[in-house]
Amino acid sequence: MRGLLVGRMQPVHQGHLQVVKSILEQVEEVIICIGSAQLSHTIKDPFTGGERVMMLTKALSENGIPASRYYIIPIPDIACNSIWVSHVKMLTPPFNKIYTGNPLVQRLFMEEGYQVTIPPLFYRDTYSGTEVRRRMIEGENWESLVPSSVKDAIYEIEGVERLQHLLKIEVSEK
Ligand code: NAD
Repeated sequence: MRGLLVGRMQPVHQGHLQVVKSILEQVEEVIICIGSAQLSHTIKDPFTGGERVMMLTKALSENGIPASRYYIIPIPDIACNSIWVSHVKMLTPPFNKIYTGNPLVQRLFMEEGYQVTIPPLFYRDTYSGTEVRRRMIEGENWESLVPSSVKDAIYEIEGVERLQHLLKIEVSEK
């Protein structure tokens, strides 16, 4: 059995890691799709698809999850929701089950006849990309919300400086 999880992962945080672990208790392999892979360098989507692949790869390795149990696949958005499931299928290995908390993703896969599971949320108020980015901008502690290897990856790409610079650009353009 192979499951599929889709997420923007801007950035990868402890909630994503927990949900991957819980999926791997139910299926042999998980396909983790990095959604909106074409987006980067905005306040909502600061990190590139490749940077998010790096964060996730390092987080799974740090947590001892063997590479034989997952596939990480960047998926760019498309303009047509009605054919998005086919777009995902084109880019991924075959899968049987979908895991997502996102209502639109649930809807689109259900309409195509897939079994959709809504995984439990872990501390959603704090383990959320919005909260991690807010703390980065405000200079608060964001490091505890992400796996240690993701923290190091974000330092390596100077992610916090990028986000704070993007905010200044956005403010100056208003
Ligand atoms: P996200 O990173 O916010 O969340 C991904 C998943 O991670 C959630 O569904 C949830 O299951 C899990 N998760 C997040 N926080 C958690 C926590 N604290 N505890 C446990 N689990 C947690 O990503 P998202 O916004 O849901 O990503 C959906 C992607 O699908 C987007 O990139 C979107 O653009 C894409 N999409 C594209 C189209 C299109 O191109 N037409 C259509 C639909 C969806």
